[in-house]
Amino acid sequence: MKSGSTAAQIDAVKIRIESHPGLQGHLSVGAERTVIGVVGQITPEVQFEMERMSGVMEVVRISRPSKLSTREFKEENTTIVVGDAVIGGREPVVIAGPCAIESEEQLMATAKIVKEEGAQILRGGAFKPRTSPYSFRGLGVTGLKMLREASKEFNIPVVTEVMSPEDVDMVASYADILQIGTRNSQNFNLLEEVGKLRKPILLKRGFSQSYEEWLLAAEYILYGGNSQVILCERGIRTFEQYTRFTVDLAAVPVIKKLSHLPIIVDPSHSTGMWELVTPISLGSIAVGAHGIILDVHPDPTSAKCDAAQALSFDNFRNLTKRVRAVSEAILSEA
Ligand code: PEP
Ligand code: MN
Repeated sequence: MKSGSTAAQIDAVKIRIESHPGLQGHLSVGAERTVIGVVGQITPEVQFEMERMSGVMEVVRISRPSKLSTREFKEENTTIVVGDAVIGGREPVVIAGPCAIESEEQLMATAKIVKEEGAQILRGGAFKPRTSPYSFRGLGVTGLKMLREASKEFNIPVVTEVMSPEDVDMVASYADILQIGTRNSQNFNLLEEVGKLRKPILLKRGFSQSYEEWLLAAEYILYGGNSQVILCERGIRTFEQYTRFTVDLAAVPVIKKLSHLPIIVDPSHSTGMWELVTPISLGSIAVGAHGIILDVHPDPTSAKCDAAQALSFDNFRNLTKRVRAVSEAILSEA
């Protein structure tokens, strides 16, 4: 739309778009201009009709498969506000907590340190997607209740994974952000279901997903009308077996170029080794990530899930100090 176009003109265009069967209009209101993203097959006749409506500046085709996640659709960064955290802004956000919630004591002790160290969001898994059915698969709803308690006690928002479409509303009633794990990143029914929410979704990259496939997974959520998607690079499968996965830090600048969505990194699940979590965290911030998500445990050696990658409290304290230093050093652009 032309700058200065009126609300009535914008409404009229959106209504006209949606009067055509199969077309949807998605609004992006920026400081500079308003864009109406038309999703669906648009014929040359409809394009011509749109071009002549009052307030319309131009009709541009986005030829890439992704539409709503692209910079062409929305030039400015999407920022997502949760509690005191702004994800996608200038300051990187730290999300930390246990991989799996094991007990009230374990969660509360970790939440206390997470809050004290200035991390803005607490993580904790209650429904755990485990490679083996014999591994600890989480406390389920009991864990979610503990997570809500910890959130209240320490005044900190919480993120947790949802694994199945039937659980989405239930998990959303306990969590401030819902996580879609790497193994579900192309579970399209689940993506559609969280697209119906109006709550932030942390979308992990599938460990065999290309950037385009990952952005198309995000597109499912955006297309459902949920504009609050946070992308998370969590390592991909390569021939290298030393680390658990291979962390792809190039994903950060590439995604920032292609998309307006915030992007964070998970140094814990990508490396699988606690000694590598601090260097990869520092690297993530240095390449411009909007945040990091970390596994922290009161006693890493006894952790029921992903023990090898969990940070002790001392290591976590040391990490947050250094992350702040890097972040201050590079604070130049969002
Ligand atoms: C997690 O964050 O707890 C998790 C299981 O991550 P991923 O889906 O990236 O393996
Ligand atoms: Mn884990």
